[in-house]
Amino acid sequence: MPFDHRGCLTLVTGASSGIGAEFARQLAGRGSDLVLVARREERLKALAAELLAAHGVAVTVLVRDLTEPGAAARIASELHDRGLRPTGLVNNAGFGTHTPFDQEDPDRLRTEIALDVQAVVELTRTFIEDLRGADRGILINVASMAAYTPVPRMAVYGAAKAFVLSFTEALWYEHRHTRLRVLALSPSATETEFFDTAGSEAAGSQRLQTPQQVVETALRALDRRNPPPSIAVGRMNRLMLALGRLASRKQSVMLMGKLTAPARRKQPAAQ
Ligand code: NAP
Repeated sequence: MPFDHRGCLTLVTGASSGIGAEFARQLAGRGSDLVLVARREERLKALAAELLAAHGVAVTVLVRDLTEPGAAARIASELHDRGLRPTGLVNNAGFGTHTPFDQEDPDRLRTEIALDVQAVVELTRTFIEDLRGADRGILINVASMAAYTPVPRMAVYGAAKAFVLSFTEALWYEHRHTRLRVLALSPSATETEFFDTAGSEAAGSQRLQTPQQVVETALRALDRRNPPPSIAVGRMNRLMLALGRLASRKQSVMLMGKLTAPARRKQPAAQ
């Protein structure tokens, strides 16, 4: 029996584009009311109108910068004041930078950690009682294939996603005997606006996944009677992770260093 999202209220962060917007679409298609959070108001309002028209679900738009201190607590008190208690949380908002570490802008790194790590922990802690108290609670934290090995030139992003993966799997354990379903989701390079920030080199030469494929993987995993603590998107990626367990830490980081190296330009032949 697929998980029944009807009558649920799911808060999706980073819903103004990419994977977050697709979570909103597929969850609305399955009957969940939504709270959409991001900074770009016009995008969120247009998506809310689309989902109301297509699926008749109630959509609340909250325009918020999640890197601001106290953002999670303010969101919760605003929702509770309106009588809204989320039954689901999708911590999806995030970005990455693709630069050798000694060239990174310290302010940018602070923002990256604030969004990719701090906001995930604060939103989860703020809403965990609501989620656990719901008949059908879900918590999905979007990690990445970058969570599984150190990623040279995306050192902070890879470490942030390793945090999300570890944090979420621990919460899966803590809640395995409750009604709350907890899942860490790891896409590989996906066709979204992510690379507008990270730069196209961050995608490497791999074939891009689609947001539809990513979100279907997550929702299908939650449909299972016993959802796993985490899931990677794509059969090939799951196979790579299984094989990767045979490699040493040194072999893994050496391989990732090669894969994330800037493409070498062809040298003109020596005269
Ligand atoms: P995206 O299209 O760039 O979406 C990122 C979302 O995060 C946007 O909705 C953006 O909305 C929101 N966001 C950024 N900064 C924010 C802030 N300070 N406060 C609130 N919201 C903020 O990229 P995406 O690929 O869908 O990324 C979604 C998640 O997937 C991220 O966690 C990313 O790390 C992860 N992921 C992506 C890939 C990939 O290849 N695309 C692979 C693995 C994992 P606003 O700009 O409107 O605020």
